[in-house]
Amino acid sequence: MTRRPARPDDFWNQPLTAPWATVPLVRDAGGTEWEAGADGRNPLKVRGRLEAAVDHWIDRARAIPHLSQLGAPIPRPKVHYDLKGGIAGMAATMVRPRALPEQWIRIHPELLNRYPVRMIQQTIPHEIAHLVVDWYLPKVREPHGPEWMAVMIYFGRPPVAFHDMKPAAPRRGRASVTAAQSVLFEAPHGRR
Ligand SMILES: [Zn+2]
Repeated sequence: MTRRPARPDDFWNQPLTAPWATVPLVRDAGGTEWEAGADGRNPLKVRGRLEAAVDHWIDRARAIPHLSQLGAPIPRPKVHYDLKGGIAGMAATMVRPRALPEQWIRIHPELLNRYPVRMIQQTIPHEIAHLVVDWYLPKVREPHGPEWMAVMIYFGRPPVAFHDMKPAAPRRGRASVTAAQSVLFEAPHGRR
């Protein structure tokens, strides 16, 4: 099946469940990579769309057969736009005594500006799937193990642990980032 590549102006209307790898990539005059059409978009509106994706996948998670019966409905996580470096997103669960866990997602704002479709349509379900496993199956230790993969497959998203977004070019004098580098979506999950 051939899919028509998404046009840049499809962004605001594209279904959150659409494939993300069809968005063409372009380079600006400085050699920095962008998803076509992403340069010049209102970052606050892009964040609004990301938050809508969080709502969408949390709603889906609350309806997963069997799994969603294992505990109270998963709450909507807070989103913080505070990551730097090669980490696109991070899911965090804080277990509290005599209270339900607290969960949040951290997002790399500069990668969100340059790769909004990948961030919204792949990084967000990736991180929500971590929160789902932490919430309903708190004894699971393997971050990208079969439980996480099963949630991603239920979401209809590829269960991949690596992304293809390129961090901003390093300053002169430092080792350059190779084009073929694969970057983990998040830091190792040592969060308990
Ligand atoms: Zn992950």
